[in-house]
Amino acid sequence: MRFDQTVTTTCGYCGVGCRLEAHAVDGRVVSISPALDGPANHGHTCLKGRFAHGFSRKRDRLRTPLIRDARGGELRPATWEEAIERIVSELTRIRDRDGGPDAIAGLASSRATNEDCYVLQRLMRAAIGTHNIDNCSRVCHSPTSWALRQSLGLSGATGSFDDIDAAGAAIIIGANPTEGHPVAGARIKQATLRGLKLVTIDPRRIELSDYAVAHLSPRPGSNAAVMLGLAHVVARDGLIDREYLDARTEGWDAVEDLLGDYTPGDVQRISAVPAADLERAAHIYAEAGEASILWGLGVTEHKYGSEVVRLICNLALMCGKVGRPGSALLPLRGQNNVQGSSDMGALPDTFTGYQSVADEDVARRFEARWGVSMKRERGMKIPEMFDAAVAGDLKAMYIFGEDVAQTDPNTTHVIAALEALEFLVVQDIFENETTRYADVVLPASSFLEKSGSFTNAERRIQLVAAAADPPGEARTDFDILVAVSAALGHAMPFASPADVMDEVAALTPDWAGVSHERLGRAGLQWPVAADGTDSPILYRDRFELPTGRARLAALPYKPPGSEASDEFPLVLVTGRRLEHYNAGTMTRRTGNLDLLPSDWLEIHPDDAARLWVADGDLVSVRSPHGRIELPARVTERIEPGHVFTAFHFPEIRTNLLIGSSADVNTSCPEYKVVAVDVRPVAEHASRTPAIASAT
Ligand code: SF4
Repeated sequence: MRFDQTVTTTCGYCGVGCRLEAHAVDGRVVSISPALDGPANHGHTCLKGRFAHGFSRKRDRLRTPLIRDARGGELRPATWEEAIERIVSELTRIRDRDGGPDAIAGLASSRATNEDCYVLQRLMRAAIGTHNIDNCSRVCHSPTSWALRQSLGLSGATGSFDDIDAAGAAIIIGANPTEGHPVAGARIKQATLRGLKLVTIDPRRIELSDYAVAHLSPRPGSNAAVMLGLAHVVARDGLIDREYLDARTEGWDAVEDLLGDYTPGDVQRISAVPAADLERAAHIYAEAGEASILWGLGVTEHKYGSEVVRLICNLALMCGKVGRPGSALLPLRGQNNVQGSSDMGALPDTFTGYQSVADEDVARRFEARWGVSMKRERGMKIPEMFDAAVAGDLKAMYIFGEDVAQTDPNTTHVIAALEALEFLVVQDIFENETTRYADVVLPASSFLEKSGSFTNAERRIQLVAAAADPPGEARTDFDILVAVSAALGHAMPFASPADVMDEVAALTPDWAGVSHERLGRAGLQWPVAADGTDSPILYRDRFELPTGRARLAALPYKPPGSEASDEFPLVLVTGRRLEHYNAGTMTRRTGNLDLLPSDWLEIHPDDAARLWVADGDLVSVRSPHGRIELPARVTERIEPGHVFTAFHFPEIRTNLLIGSSADVNTSCPEYKVVAVDVRPVAEHASRTPAIASAT
């Protein structure tokens, strides 16, 4: 096939950040191939990045603005002028007369570009006058971001995917890379075939466990005990890097005292991980010359997820395994721009580069640049926004690229919040569960139709290039947000996303040398010095904390927020499937739906036999918060007492089961431990309301 145009861009699905060649004919993307020089993918892609692009051409794309004239009425097509006029009149009414700026909140998207996120947070702060801005990393990796800053100084991976190839050993905890981050997963598989000693830690036996030298299956919610147990063995068996510990860290004495309570026998009682397996895993990691630790949402989406990330840092620091090739801490970010959306200040407490809104010098710098004055108190996090809406204190939201009614926990509470708002704007590419509550819907652009940059899981900022035009009257998110801000009275001096990046560089020390021109084909890993030198490895000589030393944290194991009981005897863990992405908005509109048309509940044969459930039976899953129905799949990949499903199918509505328990430091929901009762469907249906009704 002859293509009219081929552009090199960056995948819009997961945080690996594969570089792609997008080929277009007649202004439509018809095929995608891997960029051979992509630094994170080296010529590979997975079936999402390579084949799941057809969603961009679907007939049900939003093509024109929509307005709802009255709550409960239908959305109707409108002009851009009418839609923006309605947004301005409602937001200025609330800002100036009926609640003030803090009665309005914005949500940025970890799928959007850095530049889009920057413009939205500037809109909220400078055009509206509130720090009520957050992004969906709140519900996935905010514990990682917080903990890395506390322990090491900067909110990002300490190394790069290349460290997998340089490591002699690796631990993967709470992540399933071959499904969630397939190109990284394939790279890990290849490394094991070359001799990498891999340890997997997950309640469920993941595909990479088949390539591992050890697999630990802890009870959901007991990761802290496992990390403390590994540290205990390292200390007990003289495997500490004493020179590194003395020269580069602080806080060891308190940690040493604590570790006495976590012998392998103690940890076995808490986590069900056999003591011998724990000891073996500790030796594999500590005795390797270089070793890395990778983690995902199975670590973070817990009540004490942020504390477990700090314990992961402890282990690496005790072994002196931070700051060298092959010895990295690599959080696997779920969505393509989880890293960048937070880097860009789409957070209630920080501007770009995690500069605090409470820091007087920082705030003055932003005020001078934007020509406004701002508060020094932080704004609301996402869960606080929904609580405030239900309480009547938050009256309007601007939600950009997030289907919160589908993806956030405690779905009934989220819907109550959306219904309670006086005014809701949703900017997205399809109608979805959240647009059902919107007063104005703005048709936006997919990653194939815009330019800017994404930042992948190794802090690599990479260019995104438009291969096609947005459909119909849809516009790029950059154009929409700049237009709305100007209509609200705050004109931003940007002609293109490249201008946005220049402003980010001017205001953000860690991005001082970043420009679209410099990003080129390979991108740059922040921090980037003014001369353009980037940082594939952090903390070679010092940690980015006031003393230059890393902070060890003496944090004991605490039980999860949800535990099995007589009424709810099984523990549900949720995760991802290879074929789909997040709420499935994009992948379910492609051929990937033929590969995986529906979801199922994984259940161990022992539990299935006890419950009289056969493979393929429709089962009912009930938690204290709601009830869903889906088919059962009987498998030994899951441990007895646990069940597993994904969250890609809106009709199943897995998040109805999730309550409001959240990480103690960041409010990230406890998606990964939910006590449930599973029965053949007829038994629950006679006792509780129909599917999708929460109790
Ligand atoms: Fe895209 Fe992730 Fe697949 Fe790479 S591994 S092609 S970034 S979804």
